[in-house]
Amino acid sequence: MRSPYTLDNPPPDEPPSEVLVPSLWRVQARWWKRHTPALDQLSAKHPVCGHCGQSWPCHSWACWDGQLGQAVGGSITAAPILPSPVPEAPALTAPVHTIGATVSGMVAAAAAKS
Ligand SMILES: [Zn+2]
Repeated sequence: MRSPYTLDNPPPDEPPSEVLVPSLWRVQARWWKRHTPALDQLSAKHPVCGHCGQSWPCHSWACWDGQLGQAVGGSITAAPILPSPVPEAPALTAPVHTIGATVSGMVAAAAAKS
């Protein structure tokens, strides 16, 4: 999901009220801003990312932008923060591409290993 934010209207440092995980928002917004073209690139025909140097919009920016879009637009179907204890039933949960889901998965994976 694309976020409503643009280079002219970047995400605020402080999360909007509908954001469920404000601490995640701050990380996401910070990286969103890092993966934007440098000022001297903004008027270029093919701007490159000021952080990773890929042609912009770079892959990382697109990922962060999608997460911000989820945070402000997908709060109705927000993923639970606690890791699911039943990994063999993935079809029951809709894929939610938030960093929260990713972190939950990593936590679950780490818990399974130990
Ligand atoms: Zn980048």
